[in-house]
Amino acid sequence: MGPPGAGKGTQGERLAAWLEVPSLATGDMIRMALKEATPMGERVRIFYEAGDLAPDDVVLGLIAEALDRQENAGGFLLDGFPRTVAQADGLAVLLSQRNQRLDAVLSLEVTDEELVDRISGRRVCERCNHVTHVRKVGSVLECPDCEGQLVQRSDDETATVRNRLAVYREKTQPLQEYYAKDAVGLTAVDGMGSIDEIQERLLAALRDLRVN
Ligand SMILES: [Zn+2]
Repeated sequence: MGPPGAGKGTQGERLAAWLEVPSLATGDMIRMALKEATPMGERVRIFYEAGDLAPDDVVLGLIAEALDRQENAGGFLLDGFPRTVAQADGLAVLLSQRNQRLDAVLSLEVTDEELVDRISGRRVCERCNHVTHVRKVGSVLECPDCEGQLVQRSDDETATVRNRLAVYREKTQPLQEYYAKDAVGLTAVDGMGSIDEIQERLLAALRDLRVN
């Protein structure tokens, strides 16, 4: 787990590759279920077309479908789920029904100042969706790939980012306490620094937990 901009997606993909297990990211599972029109995909579609977030039981259903598909994978990595205590409770029930359990819960710790800098500095190409950062492009507003216009998404504006982070902290504080009290424990990992440095710390944390 980790706040928006902490690098969950990037690190999750790398960890999953290293562990040789599938990475189950909520967004990917939704796209897959919609594309394959699975039973849960059909349920997701109703919320999706209404512009609503899928409720917890539907997301848990998606995870169950993904785990069924990956039954022989020898494990899995959840990226960005659960986000609330209610979701964590639902996940615990789902896993116990399947005789599975979590081996580790990793929390990427990044300061709000760094997150605001990472997100509010993001620039996205209007034409090809190329994502870059003002640190790389400076004041140049032209996409290096297609010469389209680089813009800041409204979601990435500083005030919006601060608000998103405040909402995140409020919701995940109880979740962190939940896992800290649980048998699995909560392992905080320093999420500041380069992608490689952070990956090394995550792998070291897994080695300490004897997950490999
Ligand atoms: Zn472009």
